[in-house]
Amino acid sequence: MRRSLLLIAVVPGFLCAQDRILGRVAAHAPQLEAVSRKIWESPELGFHEGRSSALLQQELKSAGFTVKAGVAGMPTAFTAEIGSGKPVIGILGEFDALPGLSQKEQATRSPISDGGPGHGCGHNLLGSATVLSAIAIKEELQARGIRGTLRYYGTPAEEGGSGKVYMLHAGLFKDVDAVLTWHPGSGNQVDLGSNLAIDSALFRFYGTPAHAAIAPFRGRSALDGAMIMLHAVEMLREHVPQETRIHYVISNGGAAPNVVPAFAEVNLWVRHPALDTLAGVWERILKCAQAGALASETRFELAQVRSVANVIPNGPLAEVMGRALLKAGGYDYSAAERKFADDIRATLDPAGEFVAPSVVTADKSQRQGMASSDFGDVSWNVPSVEFTAATFPSGVSPHTWQAAACAGSSIGRKGMLVAARTLALGAMDLFTQPATLQAARADFDTRRAGRTWVTLIPTDAKAPVDGPAK
Ligand SMILES: [Zn+2]
Ligand SMILES: [Zn+2]
Repeated sequence: MRRSLLLIAVVPGFLCAQDRILGRVAAHAPQLEAVSRKIWESPELGFHEGRSSALLQQELKSAGFTVKAGVAGMPTAFTAEIGSGKPVIGILGEFDALPGLSQKEQATRSPISDGGPGHGCGHNLLGSATVLSAIAIKEELQARGIRGTLRYYGTPAEEGGSGKVYMLHAGLFKDVDAVLTWHPGSGNQVDLGSNLAIDSALFRFYGTPAHAAIAPFRGRSALDGAMIMLHAVEMLREHVPQETRIHYVISNGGAAPNVVPAFAEVNLWVRHPALDTLAGVWERILKCAQAGALASETRFELAQVRSVANVIPNGPLAEVMGRALLKAGGYDYSAAERKFADDIRATLDPAGEFVAPSVVTADKSQRQGMASSDFGDVSWNVPSVEFTAATFPSGVSPHTWQAAACAGSSIGRKGMLVAARTLALGAMDLFTQPATLQAARADFDTRRAGRTWVTLIPTDAKAPVDGPAK
């Protein structure tokens, strides 16, 4: 902050606009920090985020956005829009929690409710920061009479539900010029990294039951079908591209050893950095399942077929967000926060080197992430950028109780404000620099060249909103 104040005297016009937007973020910060804490205190699983979604919608409604709730056949999905015409800039928010990660705001494992859900991926911060930025951007657009549309996407069930894919199928991203989002992490970072695409399904085998001792010859074991399939998968593992990851569980292997299983179920996921390579591996996995059914004289069906695309990064958008993140800056821990961070890190083995949350990195490294998100599907359809802000100490991974504890703490909220400031600054650049949007589109076309987005979720599929929580 001190550095920017010094520079204001030199170039007042330019920096005043940036400082004004940062002022707007700061003005609404306490309200949205409180919302992030409320969502954290009442975590909800994918497709069941009724309270969380309503809280965020209410903030946007109060700020004058036109909210459409229940879009793309998902009760907790929504869009919120302000302005009109081009450009159309989209901001993505998430708000779903993870099963089993209920955790108090403390540095020892201590669930609020045993086995309950928790915000181990920090989506309470993700949703609240994006709404905070949207409100600040809206105020700045209107104050300066800048043309264009700002559209917020409330996207449910990121954790295993692919909510964004149903929104893509519903055509909700067709007219968007650029999409911005962020993700909670252990550092403040923008780069040109990507992650892994996933194909997954439940393979359900159906056989013929029989007494396993008196009349085994009458039975055809569904478990045999599953096991032959998985043996074939294990042999396949040697002959797929190096970066492939195949993991599975037998989610149902029959009820009792003395009954030939009439039903068995395999939950199998395959990942690879390239969507088209993954599609080829998936075809071969299906052949393994066919082999299992053929040899065991059973049959199989696929259920909950799902896929998530890898991220297509975008050079010009990463540059804009890099500059924005450097301007937004990191933050410092208070003495109490530093103690909390140290106590959390003491539970990690190994914790690795400590990186202060004041450190900000913006470069062109092409880091290969090993996680996956339906943000990747959006990035195949619209020029998109995602960055991380430090909502938990270095060394902590998402999907852990440590991350869940931090997502409810002041550390998480300080990281959330870094994200909101960055999004607001970056979006304003895009609204006022048409050439950057053109460059982002050209970069998108080059990186995607000749490849098309494929997903295992059919265009007419209904989101499994009534099924078990994701
Ligand atoms: Zn996650
Ligand atoms: Zn996440």
